[in-house]
Amino acid sequence: MEFNKHLENIKSYEAGKPIELVVREFGLDPKDIIKLASNENPFGCSKTVQDAVSKIVKNMALYPDDSMLKLKNALAKRFRVDVKNIIIGSGSDQVIEFIVHAKLDENSSVLMNSITFAMYEIYAKQVGAKIVRTSSQEHDLDEFYEMYKTHKPSVIFICTPNNPTGDAVDAKSLLEFLSKIDENTLVVIDGAYMEYAIGKDKSKEITPKQIVDSFNNVIYLGTFSKAYGLGGMRVGYGVACESIINPLYKLRPPFNITTLSLEAASVALEDEEFVEDSIENNFNEMKRYEEFALTNSIEIIQSYTNFVTLCLNDTQNSSQLADSLLKKGMIVRDLSGYGLNAIRVTIGTPFQNDKFFELTPQFL
Ligand SMILES: *Cc1c(COP(=O)(O)O)cnc(C)c1O
Repeated sequence: MEFNKHLENIKSYEAGKPIELVVREFGLDPKDIIKLASNENPFGCSKTVQDAVSKIVKNMALYPDDSMLKLKNALAKRFRVDVKNIIIGSGSDQVIEFIVHAKLDENSSVLMNSITFAMYEIYAKQVGAKIVRTSSQEHDLDEFYEMYKTHKPSVIFICTPNNPTGDAVDAKSLLEFLSKIDENTLVVIDGAYMEYAIGKDKSKEITPKQIVDSFNNVIYLGTFSKAYGLGGMRVGYGVACESIINPLYKLRPPFNITTLSLEAASVALEDEEFVEDSIENNFNEMKRYEEFALTNSIEIIQSYTNFVTLCLNDTQNSSQLADSLLKKGMIVRDLSGYGLNAIRVTIGTPFQNDKFFELTPQFL
C-alpha cells in the first residue's frame, strides 16, 4: 500500500525508554528503576494539583470545556497577556505541529540549529519542507541571520535553553535578532526549559509579553511537562499576537486537552513554591554533576535546564555507557543519534543522582 511519500524519509521519534519497557526487558523491579531520560520533574507534581485532579476525577463522561478559559485566564494573568494571545496544545509538541502545518509545505524551508529538539525536523518532514541547519553546536545568532538571508526560510526554530545540549542564548541578542527578521518569517522561541534558565541567569529570560508586545512574527512556546512535573498530562501552550494564533486554531482538533489535564495545569500555575523548590534542587544537584565530570575528566556543557549533557572522550562510547546503565536499571539518553558521543542525564533527586555517580565510573 502506498502512503504519503514524505513519510518515507521520517525516522519515528525515539522517546526516552519508559520504565515499563525496562521492567519487561531486564526483569527488574519497577521500584529499582531510575529514569533520568526525559527531563521530567523528579519530584512529580504539586500536591495541590493531585488534590484538585482527584476531586474532579468523576467528571469523565462530559467533553472538556473546549474554550479552556480557566487555564487560559490563569496563563494570561501569569504572563500579562490577553487570552486571545494564547493557544493550548496537547503538549507544546502539538503547537509545534500546528505551526509547521500552518506555515510549511514542499516549497518552503525551515531553519534550525545543527543539534536541537528532534520533533522540529519530524513535523517539517511530514509536509515535505526543506530543512536547513546551522553548523555550530550552540545557537549562533549571527550564523542564523546569515542563513536566514540566504535561504529565506518560512519558519525559524530557536530552542532556548536548547534540548539536548542545555545551553541558552542571551535574551538581548535574541531580541535584536528578532527585530531583523522579515514579518513573513515565523520565529518560534521554544522555552520548554525557560523556568530553569530564569532560575539560574536572568539574562537568558525571554517573556511571552515581550514577544506579544513587540513582534507580529514570533511565537513563544511553553510547557507543563518539565518544571511543573505534568509530562503525563500533556499540556503546552503558544503565546503570540492574534494574527498568528487565529490561523493555528484552524488546525486544532476539538477537545485536544482533557478535563483532568486542564484542571491540573490551571492549578499548577498557582503553586509557585513547588516550582521554585524544584529549581533550587536542580541547580544544587547540578553542581554535583559538574564536580563528578571534573573528577572523571568528562566534559560537561554549561546547562540552563534540568539536565546535563556529558561529552565523553574518544576512548569512551556513549551508546555502550547508556546500555550498561540500562542493565542496572538506570535510564539515561544516549545522544549518538545526534552525532554526539555524549549522554544526556536529567537531574534527579539527590538519591537518584547518588546512584548515577555510584554506577557510572565503572563503565567509563
Ligand atoms: C519537552 C520539550 C517540548 C515539549 O514537550 P511537551 O511535553 O510536548 O509539552 C518542547 N520542546 C522541547 C525543547 C522540549 O524539550
